[in-house]
Amino acid sequence: MYKKILVPIDILEDELSQELITHIEQIAQVGKPEIHFLTVIPNAELFFGIEFAAIPEKFKDSSERTRLAFIALQDMIKDTKIPDEQIVCNVGVGNAKDEILEYARQIDADLIAIASHRPNVSSYLLGSTASSIVRHAKMSVLVIR
Ligand code: ADP
Repeated sequence: MYKKILVPIDILEDELSQELITHIEQIAQVGKPEIHFLTVIPNAELFFGIEFAAIPEKFKDSSERTRLAFIALQDMIKDTKIPDEQIVCNVGVGNAKDEILEYARQIDADLIAIASHRPNVSSYLLGSTASSIVRHAKMSVLVIR
């Protein structure tokens, strides 16, 4: 069965993420795969929407936002039934789709599990991050609806 499952989590979407985590709890019981929870925060350029040189010096460093995102991610999974020894948490900085695909490649994930879109965006079959991952991932992708 699966050895490494990447589960990208949008920390701004609590309801959606909890649904995804509940699905993963079932899958995590089969063969005890490593479960990598990854959240991606925008880098300073994406965050401010201006080029790097124009960003005030004190905002260029993403380490404080990364630290806070890591705490938020841990808080989001704190009630999961997945055993601690199976869990790895990480924060990526940049564009969500690119960071998710690169992280999946780095750990050689055999599955990426994502939610399809925010529940309130019912006109979309797949959100933009989800559809890019389905299109570009080299490994299997499980889309939770
Ligand atoms: P929507 O456009 O409705 O938000 P998305 O395709 O962006 O839909 O999000 C669907 C899924 O993609 C999320 O549930 C999550 O698994 C993943 N995802 C989206 N944004 C991020 C992010 N910043 N970090 C990690 N995963 C993300």
